[in-house]
Amino acid sequence: MNSKKILAPIITAAAAVAALIIIMVAVSGSENGSKVADKETTTASAQTTVSQETESETTTFEEEAGSNPKNKKEAEELEKNAEKRVYLTFDDGPSANTDDVLDVLKKYDIKATFFDIEKEEDGEKKALKRCYDEGHTIAIHTMTHDYDEVYGSLENWKADVLGQQKYLEEVTGIKTHFYRFPGGSSNTIAAKRGTDIEDCIRWLNENGFKYYDWNIDNEDSTGTSFTPDQLADNVLDYMSDEGDYMILLHDTNAKDNTVLSLPKIIETLQGKGFTFCQITDNTKYFQHRKYDEV
Ligand SMILES: [Zn+2]
Repeated sequence: MNSKKILAPIITAAAAVAALIIIMVAVSGSENGSKVADKETTTASAQTTVSQETESETTTFEEEAGSNPKNKKEAEELEKNAEKRVYLTFDDGPSANTDDVLDVLKKYDIKATFFDIEKEEDGEKKALKRCYDEGHTIAIHTMTHDYDEVYGSLENWKADVLGQQKYLEEVTGIKTHFYRFPGGSSNTIAAKRGTDIEDCIRWLNENGFKYYDWNIDNEDSTGTSFTPDQLADNVLDYMSDEGDYMILLHDTNAKDNTVLSLPKIIETLQGKGFTFCQITDNTKYFQHRKYDEV
């Protein structure tokens, strides 16, 4: 066998590998359209490949953070540069009201955070996907919100967190690590059912999750039927003109008035110079109980 015959298959294989790399780079480029387009196109091909691999690694990390990668850097910049921050957080969605919530947020061009529950209706899944597509932060709440089930044991609780993380990933494609305890981290419900919140917090911290409570509650889940105006006042009356606030709201089929209360909250706070932010990895903690306190 002469050297040409030996080399021919090697060259063919090398060409195939090179072609594959080119195809992979092209595909990865098209998935990151806007970012890749920003890059210098005159860079040598080897460097381009390296920088695109870095790009896609970064994207993977960003996807795990919970918000749309296209918006995450922008969201972090906005949050970093703001002095008075407000985080609107909606629990218990998606629901028949989610689209209306999203329409309001879109109108004012602000982003929020959604701590969601597992819902099976196609319309609800579509609404959840829309939250993600429009750049809001997707976060874990619970699969069932059934306290007996969720807090029945530490193992139940872990399965609930991981199950909901998986559900959110199935619907949106994003693996989020942001979490809110059903009832908040200060709840006394868990202990009554045999689960120690200290164990939960330790597990969250050890497994890369970040949990957030709130420091303002619009009281839309207290059982009292507030008008939209009263719901807005339940928020605004408890805020000073300075500081950072994480506001608890609910996104369920019954919370029409919560949706209707949003314009007053948003307009009043924007008028006072507050910036509306979504949860990112840069967000400081709003926690009722911390690991070192439990
Ligand atoms: Zn809830």
